[in-house]
Amino acid sequence: MNTPLHFAVMGNPIQHSYSPLLHSLFAKQAGLDINYEKMLVPLEDFESAVHTFFEQGGKGLNITIPFKLRAHELARGNLSRRAQSAGSVNTLWMEEGQLHGCNTDGIGMVNDIRRQGIALEGKKILLLGAGGAARGVIMPLLESGCQQLQVVNRTAAKATELARQCQTNLPQYANIFRAGGFEHIQGQWDIVINATSSSLQHHTLPLPAGLFTQDSLAYDMIYTPDNNTPFLQQARKDGAGITSDGLGMLVYQGAESFFIWNHIRVNPVPVLETLRQQLISG
Ligand code: NDP
Repeated sequence: MNTPLHFAVMGNPIQHSYSPLLHSLFAKQAGLDINYEKMLVPLEDFESAVHTFFEQGGKGLNITIPFKLRAHELARGNLSRRAQSAGSVNTLWMEEGQLHGCNTDGIGMVNDIRRQGIALEGKKILLLGAGGAARGVIMPLLESGCQQLQVVNRTAAKATELARQCQTNLPQYANIFRAGGFEHIQGQWDIVINATSSSLQHHTLPLPAGLFTQDSLAYDMIYTPDNNTPFLQQARKDGAGITSDGLGMLVYQGAESFFIWNHIRVNPVPVLETLRQQLISG
C-alpha cells in the first residue's frame, strides 16, 4: 500500500484554518491519497519546522499568519514571480533539493472574480488597503488587462510606496497604476476590492458616495457565513449591484497551491459550495 502524500499548513494561531478541509476535498476529486494537517508552530521555531517537514518527506506546505514574510525569506533563491511581487509566500515545496515559494492569494482572487462571470479586461479597479493582501493581488490585477488600478490606503504613504515599487518592477503598467489616500478617490468604479482588515474590526471605510453603479462589483477579502461584511453592506447601500466576500479567494488560492504540488487542476466550485454550507451551519 502506498503512503499518503503529506501536506500541512503552518501558522500561529492555526485552529481557524480551513485548508485541511479544502485540500481533502480537492484530493478526493483528484483521486489522490493525502494527509493534510494543521501545524501550530511556535514563533521562534518556524524555519526549523519547515526544514524538518521536508526532511521527513513532506510534499507541500501552506503558510499563514504570521509566517508569510519569513517563508519568502526562506525560499528567496527560488521565488515565483507572484511571490516576488507579493513580497510574501503562502506555498512552499521542494524541487531538486531546493525550497521553492509562491504566493497564490492574488491569482486566487482574480480566478474567483472570473468565476462570477466578471471580466477584468478594460475595467477600472479600486483597491482599498496597502498591506500584505493588497500587495499580493497587484500583479495579477495588472496582468488581467484592466484599464486602471488605483490603490488607496489609510496611511497614504504605504500606497505610494506600492506605486513606486510597481514603477520599478512592472514599468509597463506604471501608466495605469495610481496611488494615494482615501481623499483621492473620485468617480465611479467597475470593481472595488476591500483588502483592508476594516471589516474584521466591524468598521466602515471613509468612501465617498457615488462610487458604485448597478454593474459594479464590491469584493471584500474577508468572509462571513452570509456574504455580508460591513464593507459589502456599505457598498450595497451605495448602489453596488454585485457583492462578494472572499471565501472564493480562499478556495481558489488553495486550488492553485494544489496544482503547484500535484500538477492536477481541480474544480473549486463544488468545494466552495461545501465550505459555504459548513460556514452557515457553524
Ligand atoms: P495587513 O495587516 O498587512 O494590512 C492591513 C490593511 O488594512 C492596511 O492597509 C491597513 O491600513 C488597513 N486597515 C486596517 N484597519 C483599517 C481601518 N479601520 N480603516 C481603514 N484601513 C484599515 O493585513 P493583510 O493585508 O494581510 O490582510 C488584510 C485582510 O485581507 C485581512 O482581513 C485578511 O483576513 C484578508 N485576507 C483574506 C484572504 C482570503 O483568502 N480571503 C487572503 C489574505 C488576506 P494602514 O496601512 O493605514 O494601517
